[in-house]
Amino acid sequence: MNTTPGIVTRFAPSPNGHLHLGHAFSAIYAHDLAKTAGGRFLLRIEDIDGPRSRPEHADEFRRDLEWLGLEWEEVPAQSTRLESYRDAADTLLELGMAYRCSCTRKEIEALDPRTGEDGVIYPGACKGRCPTGEEPAALRLDVDKAMTELGELIWTDEQAGSVIADPREFGDVVIVRKDLPASYHLAATLDDAADEVTVVTRGSDLFAATHVHRILQELLELPLPHYHHHNLLIDDDGRKLAKRRGSPALASRRERGEDGLVLAEQLRLQQKLSGT
Ligand code: GLU
Repeated sequence: MNTTPGIVTRFAPSPNGHLHLGHAFSAIYAHDLAKTAGGRFLLRIEDIDGPRSRPEHADEFRRDLEWLGLEWEEVPAQSTRLESYRDAADTLLELGMAYRCSCTRKEIEALDPRTGEDGVIYPGACKGRCPTGEEPAALRLDVDKAMTELGELIWTDEQAGSVIADPREFGDVVIVRKDLPASYHLAATLDDAADEVTVVTRGSDLFAATHVHRILQELLELPLPHYHHHNLLIDDDGRKLAKRRGSPALASRRERGEDGLVLAEQLRLQQKLSGT
């Protein structure tokens, strides 16, 4: 494993539900990677999902991580960083690499678009033609233009090695949502740079998102971290564990009196067995 002194990793949960085993797996992975190299492990609460983001979930996350025996430094939550997202969005507009889009989901679906990593791939119907008036608009990245101008971009992943950034499976991805000051892609990319994260660790389900993040880094002149997209914990039916499917919450296991340190050791063993 490629660990260097000065390594900074992070766990960046969204407080819109409980943490489950998959989150514990991911947090322990990031924690141990940093701590065994004498580095720093950060906690960043990604709370810009409007009313779905709730502070009580973030409090619960802290109790869960403590229960698992992890030690972290908490960096400012995303809701305190909106200014930096606005500035970056303005920069992308000034560079001509982003455009406003007020199309509704229905309008886009009526064009019979392909689906990709983030759902339907925007078919470019209104590219640059949506009115610039008062109505709510999202901001989309002009992916073709960015790719043409930037040329080949590489990023490295611990398991996959050198990867050529290819964000086409996202189409002109939304970087500022109609209802929010950023999208996950823009906020996470900016914050990883601001927090000086040197190794971004997250589940392999987010592998493809890194193609988009790589483009944003280049356009916004941000440093390039190393990536570890780790294997996912799967449930007994072979499906990814997720909050939505009601996988057991860490909080309920904790409240039932289960030993979090023992659970953390079991997850470390699973990481070894799965070659993560
Ligand atoms: N807030 C994101 C999530 O909970 C974090 C993803 C990431 O680690 O980049 O899925």
